[in-house]
Amino acid sequence: MNKNILEDCTLCPRECHANRTLGQIGMCREAAKVVVARAALHMWEEPCISGEKGSGTVFFSGCSLGCVYCQNQKIAKGLAGRKITTERLSDIFLELQEKGANNINLVTPSHYVPQIIEALITAKRKGLYLPIVYNTSGYEKVETIKLLSGYVDVYLPDLKYKSGEISKRYSNAPDYFNYASEAILEMVNQVGEPDFNEEGIMTKGVIVRHLTLPGYLMDSKDILEYLYDTFGDKIYISIMNQYTPLSQVKAYTEINRKVTPQEYEELVDYALYLGVENGFIQEGETAAESFIPEFNEEGV
Ligand code: SF4
Repeated sequence: MNKNILEDCTLCPRECHANRTLGQIGMCREAAKVVVARAALHMWEEPCISGEKGSGTVFFSGCSLGCVYCQNQKIAKGLAGRKITTERLSDIFLELQEKGANNINLVTPSHYVPQIIEALITAKRKGLYLPIVYNTSGYEKVETIKLLSGYVDVYLPDLKYKSGEISKRYSNAPDYFNYASEAILEMVNQVGEPDFNEEGIMTKGVIVRHLTLPGYLMDSKDILEYLYDTFGDKIYISIMNQYTPLSQVKAYTEINRKVTPQEYEELVDYALYLGVENGFIQEGETAAESFIPEFNEEGV
């Protein structure tokens, strides 16, 4: 694929038309050069992604969604990371494979799709065989997801909000659900039903994550209902309670607290009531800043 799209960037729904090859930046805050903040084995994903050996996680800098409560703010705002070539990115994939990773897990990759495809082509030519996981906010264009056909094995999108009012308030994206739901449909059509290797690691499929926000149980229930009505058990649903109110949400007093155990329990019960069988839940106290990795350029 060519890189022309970066000269008039419309990779994601923001459609900034920035000429990123000339150093211009759009809402994702990144020009054409890939910036990576950390590349290391990561144990905190779903069990079929992390397994015992860990997921080979590559944290890209910048983000096109920019949620006010972002848990990875330092990288989302493009404030961390090192600029690298696509050649170096392909070597990083191979180094993670050498370290025993179960997969290559691309975190917030949407604004680097052309560069990632280029790096994957090189890495596969040099022996990369691991499943490729595309770990995204869900705010994606179908056209961009189509470019990834044949390169990505496992999609790990969020589906954050159903209500446009809520997605506008916290992510400045009133059209979030329309884009994310269409993108997820394309992901499911592309990779099909889940499959696992003998160690229980997902080798293809879609896991949709939903991070429960404090006080928005109704919207969370709407999301679960939509996902189960639309896909049944063709996908996995991961219901997350790890929302952590960091200092930047002080102005949003209604979400300046953790999700209560009662709220989370009610949502999990609702999933069971719907009949969801392919699901992941989080147990115990997961809302802690210590779960946010250090973005210290390790492995970059
Ligand atoms: S990837 Fe970045 S520059 Fe391109 S449309 Fe999205 S936010 Fe804008």
